[in-house]
Amino acid sequence: MQPIIGIPCFPMVRGDTGRPIYASNQRYVQAVLHAGGVPILIPPLPSGEALTAIQEILDGLLLAGGADLDPTHYGETPLPEMGTPEPQRDATELAITRWALDKRLPVLGICRGMQLLNVACGGSLYQDLPTQLPSAFDHEQQGQARTHIAHEVNTEPGSLLADILGVQHVGVNSFHHQAVRRIGQGLRVTGVAEDGVAEAIEIPDLPFVLAVQYHPEELESNDAASHRLFLAFVQASAEHKQRTSAAH
Ligand code: MN
Repeated sequence: MQPIIGIPCFPMVRGDTGRPIYASNQRYVQAVLHAGGVPILIPPLPSGEALTAIQEILDGLLLAGGADLDPTHYGETPLPEMGTPEPQRDATELAITRWALDKRLPVLGICRGMQLLNVACGGSLYQDLPTQLPSAFDHEQQGQARTHIAHEVNTEPGSLLADILGVQHVGVNSFHHQAVRRIGQGLRVTGVAEDGVAEAIEIPDLPFVLAVQYHPEELESNDAASHRLFLAFVQASAEHKQRTSAAH
């Protein structure tokens, strides 16, 4: 029984026709398929029966990368360096993440997804690293290939991340100008860049809640360690499916 992995997507305007569409980077779908999961894209639906109906069929939640989260969700006013917010996406992802944590559903967060998980748990973000943490090195790597290894991450021994990757130091790509600042409730930082920026967080009290600031979906087709992240997530989702169907 393959687990069903929900991937919230986002609204955008199609370049060629100008029509509004919902979208997601295909890499997330491919990485889930490659790991044996069944990906489904979830449109922005902040509440209501449709969202509830979707939640009922999910075995895992993948929070993808994307636009900056609106800082009002962590009690701050936006800096000028902030990108354009996507209120529908923010609201949907916060709602579905809180639901998933409550149901002990496996969650894998990537980039924005890590930031969103932190905010869903009451944490805050650096809205813009160059402005608010000038000692950090360049994490945005504009113009680099998506597979470019920009810096190392030191993983905490004994953490889920360290166990999955099988190494203490891992080279990662880096395409973010925001980062976790105040850590949310129940979360723990389990991966840190050499400049002190948080690169991975987990909830040790839940079976599988892990988020990384880098983009393993861009690496997994050629990098065994990145592929193992998706494998471990899909495996945890399969176990969740088994546990909950046994309970019915
Ligand atoms: Mn980084």
